Amino acid sequence: MLPSLSPDFDAALNALAFPVQPFIDGAFRPSSAGKTFEPVHPADGRRLPAVAACDAQDVDGAVQAARRAFVDGRWRSLGPLRRQAILNRFADLVRENTETLALFDTLEMGKPLADARFDVSIAEGLIRFFTGAVDKTEGAVMSADPRTLAFSRDEPHGVVGAITPWNFPLVNAALKIAPALAAGNSIVLKPSEIASYSTLKLAEIAVEAGVPEGVLNVVTGFGADAGAALGGHPDVDLMSFTGSTATGRALMMLAAQSNGKPLLLECGGKSPALVFEDMAGDIERIAASIAQAGLWNAGQLCVARTRILVADAIMKPFTEALAAKVDAMRLIAPFSGEAGLGPLASESQKRRVDGHIQSALRDGARRVTAGQAVPSVEGSYVAPTVFDGVSQGMRVVQEEIFGPVLTIQSFRTADEAFALANDTIYGLAATVYTRDLTIAMEAARTIQAGKVVVMGDDAAGEGSGFALGSAPWKQSGFGIESGMAGIASYSRRKAVEIRA
Ligand code: NAD
Repeated sequence: MLPSLSPDFDAALNALAFPVQPFIDGAFRPSSAGKTFEPVHPADGRRLPAVAACDAQDVDGAVQAARRAFVDGRWRSLGPLRRQAILNRFADLVRENTETLALFDTLEMGKPLADARFDVSIAEGLIRFFTGAVDKTEGAVMSADPRTLAFSRDEPHGVVGAITPWNFPLVNAALKIAPALAAGNSIVLKPSEIASYSTLKLAEIAVEAGVPEGVLNVVTGFGADAGAALGGHPDVDLMSFTGSTATGRALMMLAAQSNGKPLLLECGGKSPALVFEDMAGDIERIAASIAQAGLWNAGQLCVARTRILVADAIMKPFTEALAAKVDAMRLIAPFSGEAGLGPLASESQKRRVDGHIQSALRDGARRVTAGQAVPSVEGSYVAPTVFDGVSQGMRVVQEEIFGPVLTIQSFRTADEAFALANDTIYGLAATVYTRDLTIAMEAARTIQAGKVVVMGDDAAGEGSGFALGSAPWKQSGFGIESGMAGIASYSRRKAVEIRA
């Protein structure tokens, strides 16, 4: 038994009441080779209960189970009302298990427990959204010839392979599972090796809710083994991946080399936030908004606002305000119950981010934040950092860092702002702070990203969440995973003509 860290830490370990093994055909089963690895609690580096390191044989077993479940129609052939009832129960059980699911994500990837609880509510909402969509998809009917009935049928692909990252373990798993199941597919999901407990629990909950055995399978382990075996499996019909652009490219190769399966790719980002001069009276509020959104989850967020572009006239006061807000953010132990930034999810991620900070300093960037003491030297903490004095070609501006590091640059005209915003290989999201309708419309037209949010007043109005599907641009990926278009991505359209 690991020595106690806090009552919540103990509760997290106690909640791990199932064998940490692949979940195949409705049960936890030993992996074929019996290999395991130990995840790490990133706040202090202590090792956690071992997880099965699955290999190609385990992946094949899971794919076969998913195929059997698809072929005999135990899920896809259920009527939509029956499927909705089961998926609604699934969402209910996710809510009932909030504490367990949140504890697992905090344990493995170190996000503050309050944030992990919030993630569970997002996952529940995603399941409810796609559950509602089950009986609301509409196809096309054509009546060109009165003797022909021509209509479309949306059918599931079959076996979906899914691979997720560690930054939002539960949310990312729900965002694959919910639309895939809503569309009638079977699924084999491989979570990140850094955080897999909550995904295993999710699979157990799904079966408890009534999702038939074999419809949702989870294989744990490393990308090079389990992930590559899933991506290259010839009997997987559709691959849905969220993770880095480099791994997304590797999966394209695996798809091409195996069966040419289609892919949905949600990859890296380097999202800009543009602050225009008409917001001069709102500098404090916008600086707080950017510090919060750029550093949520310790900056480990694909759409984090990390490149801050500010109108020349307000650059100086804005930089000072942002630096002050960032310096006021506290680094905290994730189970402490305090608000603040947790550690990064792993030691290797910390080393990567530290490397980016050093490279920025070598390139001549100026650190405008003071930095702060970390709560534990054994933990993977990085003090939140803002750089100015950066140029567009620097690595710190061009490359995704995935940590608490922001850059700030100035612009003179809107055209220059949009050019800077578009000048990376990524295109996930952009935020524009202005009340000028002309600039807002120009931003919506010009910015190369899947989502553009204009904030006149960020306290006004709710966001669209996952309801409005968006496709990543450029090397951030392709395909739409959310909204009603998301359920279409997990379906294939068939045209039927009946000429009687
Ligand atoms: P990663 O690409 O290293 O790993 C993601 C997943 O892929 C993990 O499960 C990993 O085991 C697996 N994997 C690694 N190598 C593989 C291979 N060769 N074959 C098959 N699978 C393999 O990414 P990460 O470090 O876990 O996550 C961070 C990245 O995820 C960032 O780039 C971030 O932007 C991206 N992300 C994107 C979105 C989005 O919606 N666009 C959301 C969250 C995270």
